[in-house]
Amino acid sequence: MAQSTHSYSRRVSLAGPSLVTRSWDRGSVLGGVMVAAMLLGGCQSVAGTDRRQLNTYSVAQEIALGDEAYAEMQVGAKAINAGRDYEMVVRVTNRIAAAADRLHPEIASRFEWEVILIDDDEVVNAWALPGGKMAVYTGILPFTKTEDGLAAVMGHEAAHAIARHGGENMTRQGLVSLLSIGAAVMVDPEDRVIVAAAASAYGLLGEPAFSRAQESEADELGLFLTADAGYDPRESVALWERMAARGGEPLEFLSTHPNSETRIRDLEALMPVALEVRKQRLLERGDRPSE
Ligand SMILES: [Zn+2]
Repeated sequence: MAQSTHSYSRRVSLAGPSLVTRSWDRGSVLGGVMVAAMLLGGCQSVAGTDRRQLNTYSVAQEIALGDEAYAEMQVGAKAINAGRDYEMVVRVTNRIAAAADRLHPEIASRFEWEVILIDDDEVVNAWALPGGKMAVYTGILPFTKTEDGLAAVMGHEAAHAIARHGGENMTRQGLVSLLSIGAAVMVDPEDRVIVAAAASAYGLLGEPAFSRAQESEADELGLFLTADAGYDPRESVALWERMAARGGEPLEFLSTHPNSETRIRDLEALMPVALEVRKQRLLERGDRPSE
């Protein structure tokens, strides 16, 4: 125990001075002041959980960046605007959006939900941006199989946006760059570099942007969004099993996700409550729960 503490201190003392020296050499007092101000001002709780997160972006800034990234991601994308798959994707979006408004009105009420179905069978992915702009690639549909399966994916993605994981990641990236280049770069929402960083932080280039803690959080919040939207939350487990059974190279969608056994165990622990949420929702809607 004592030894591990000692080696940890040594690592810190080795890494610390060079980082600080570099920062203070190139930057100025401004760098330290900015970092301190960001740390003090940017700490808050995630909607729907008690986790504290560091996010120096305002919701309005995140939405603006999300909208800009959405416009950029649509350039060159082949959109599908009709047909059964499209109608299903729109229907799931609307139901998840309504559930988000009910469960997380403090943030979801500021979103304008929209979805694009992108015709690309090679991309096994889906994403959601702060502001509620979402995308589904046709390549994920063979895995989602049913509307409930698609709802599991879209609930998970919407949860990333509601939990403000994009802003949290951008804050982390921003702090890293502030520390390493001495606060020379101000965060400018108009800056293309920042938009590219946002695209990466929001998981537009695949899910690896998200940490495991964020993934577990999106699983939990997404499960309840799906259930409150009236979809069968058990489909999330079936979906991850299908994804895991695919084998071969890791899917973009799975690459940094918790291993499937852990995530399925965590989802199943929440399932009784999620099923109750769904039952209540269906009763309120006047539907008869099938089981
Ligand atoms: Zn995720």
